[in-house]
Amino acid sequence: MRPTELNPFFRDLTDLAGVGTKTVRLYQRLLGTGQDTPRVVDLLFHLPVDVLDRRARPEIATAPHGAIATLSVRVGRHEAPKRRGAPYRVFAHDETGELALVFFRAQPDFLRRLLTEGETRIVSGKLEWYGGRPQMVHPDHVVAPEDEASLPAVEPIYPLSEGLTGRMLGKTMAAALASLPDLPEWQDPSWLARRGFPSFREALVGLHTPSEPADLASDAPARLRLAYDELLSGQLALALIRRRIRKQAGKERVWPQERVDEIRAALPFALTNAQTEALTEIADDLKAPHRMLRLLQGDVGSGKTAVALITIAMVVTSGAQAALMAPTALLARQHFEAIAPMFARFGISCRLMIGSQPAAERAEGRRGLAEGSVDVAIGTHAMFQDDVAFHNLGLVVVDEQHRFGVHQRLALSDKGPSSDVLVMTATPIPRTLVLTTFGDMDVSRLTEKPPGRTPVDTRTVPLDRIDDVAERLEAAIARGEKAYWICPLVEESDVVDLTSVTDRHARLTERLGDSVGLVHGKMKPADRDAVMARFRDGDIKVLVATTVVEVGVDVPDATIMVIEHAERFGLAQLHQLRGRVGRGKRRSVCLLLYKAPIGETAKGRLSVMRDSEDGFLIAEEDLRLRGEGEILGTRQSGLPGFHLAVPELQGELIAAAHDDARLVIETDPELTSARGKALRLLLYLFERDEAVRLLRAG
Ligand code: ADP
Ligand code: MG
Repeated sequence: MRPTELNPFFRDLTDLAGVGTKTVRLYQRLLGTGQDTPRVVDLLFHLPVDVLDRRARPEIATAPHGAIATLSVRVGRHEAPKRRGAPYRVFAHDETGELALVFFRAQPDFLRRLLTEGETRIVSGKLEWYGGRPQMVHPDHVVAPEDEASLPAVEPIYPLSEGLTGRMLGKTMAAALASLPDLPEWQDPSWLARRGFPSFREALVGLHTPSEPADLASDAPARLRLAYDELLSGQLALALIRRRIRKQAGKERVWPQERVDEIRAALPFALTNAQTEALTEIADDLKAPHRMLRLLQGDVGSGKTAVALITIAMVVTSGAQAALMAPTALLARQHFEAIAPMFARFGISCRLMIGSQPAAERAEGRRGLAEGSVDVAIGTHAMFQDDVAFHNLGLVVVDEQHRFGVHQRLALSDKGPSSDVLVMTATPIPRTLVLTTFGDMDVSRLTEKPPGRTPVDTRTVPLDRIDDVAERLEAAIARGEKAYWICPLVEESDVVDLTSVTDRHARLTERLGDSVGLVHGKMKPADRDAVMARFRDGDIKVLVATTVVEVGVDVPDATIMVIEHAERFGLAQLHQLRGRVGRGKRRSVCLLLYKAPIGETAKGRLSVMRDSEDGFLIAEEDLRLRGEGEILGTRQSGLPGFHLAVPELQGELIAAAHDDARLVIETDPELTSARGKALRLLLYLFERDEAVRLLRAG
């Protein structure tokens, strides 16, 4: 149960004065709470992105055009509209000149009271010059000199949604801030002192009522403090999960090494050093009494599947079952086809478990897993949602899963209370960012690629040379090669100048005939799988596709990758796409078609792609090239779920939070000390309730 001290944060926004049933809809849209009524905390975590600086106090004659100005003026005559639709004007003066205050759809009575002729007023707003005359349309503030203190020197600017004005939001925010309780400090005092961080409350109040623009800078102490709070809550939740999973007794697995060696020897290649090292780390985990909780990070084509296969062999020959989960049915099938025949030779039985199978087949698979006659289940995540029960599940391998949340991690325990967990990811996220999602796991990295690969010859080509590209493609097909052709969108209507896949498919078909296939995200999975199969084994030589082919698909004899509008893709995505070729012995090419002219950053990005095939390096460069402005501007982080932290810019804070969390859990595992109790509040505040429940006295 959430402590009552936090109630002020979790009240409905409608509890605040001025938020009725109508305005709350606007807040739902703004704060993205869907049908749910937003809570006060949702609003408080909606931070300003910029400031309006009202500190400039020019005189009328020298006030610059288009800037915010605050002026002290004497009110002169009022001029009612001369015709319908014309504005109401009030003229005002200082020693240097005359300023027109302009109001549309004015209420004259109100304006006569606000701007009484002959009196002094302070007005603040955007001043503009037209035809040599200055004017201010709808001043933001008009106050009498004695009320000057009520005029904010600096005003926060928030992202808004249609129908919601900054003024409305400001009022609601003020009401929310007024009810903020003082909470006990959950951060280490010496850390706060060292970083010059304010308290949680001071930080929130400070960001919503800045007194100068620097208060809202991306490195302002208040911002970093709140970011650190959010990051620490995440790391603490992961540390609690880690402790829970570790504490549940694992098995000290013992397997006949010579059988595993035989299986290893049956692979058509020798393992790379990186693969061998990862397997040593994995074997140590399996032999140890604790449960394995390991992330295997390896670039596309680094050979993660072989590592999974040997890991499965170790666990299965030790007498337990294993499950391999893929993100799509297509990939599950691909794994099944690669693994099952090989294991069959060693008397290990595999079962494919996907939703689209006939019911009878699924039922049979379920029976086999429950009885223990099936050793390995290969399927999608659906396998863990429905009622598949295992006789003795010892290992779960999760492939290519970008987000493997707290929920899924805990659900695993139900299927196999002592099962070991191996998560594989090809997303080459920079080191610090790995911690935000996988901070509870140990990490093995495949830093080297299998030998004998020829590097992919990557080139950038302006789109207007597309006919040359098509011509070269035709020649390559005639030589028996296969190609992917990637387009960004399905429907022309989304963004007018992007070629749609269907359109591109039609044009290439004109040229190359029936050997051109098409797959996109809006097709039925079964149809898509059928086309993919024809591309892999049959008559289709050119596959026009959206990014659905991004993850894991393996067609070793495809040698050409054409990416249209490459400038619109993220680097990580381009890298994943390029990883689809260069898998065989033949030399592969990747053509990045871009629409000229392109900006410096876009150019820089494409040249990183041209010069490197190292996914980790590309990820780091991507982060660097995107820069602070772009990251803060777009928030296209690929790391959803953060309100206050910007993990891409705060690697150092992430690492600190990670260490802090592990230390806390080591010294105060049940969070019962004074700081521990305060940290429970932090967990609730960021809605890590699930993690708090893992505590004995949760
Ligand atoms: P990923 O890490 O992207 O999942 P895969 O496991 O699909 O990579 O491996 C990519 C390709 O490399 C496969 O065709 C696989 O058979 C091959 N491969 C894996 N390990 C080795 C190795 N040690 N030597 C040679 N080829 C290998
Ligand atoms: Mg793979």
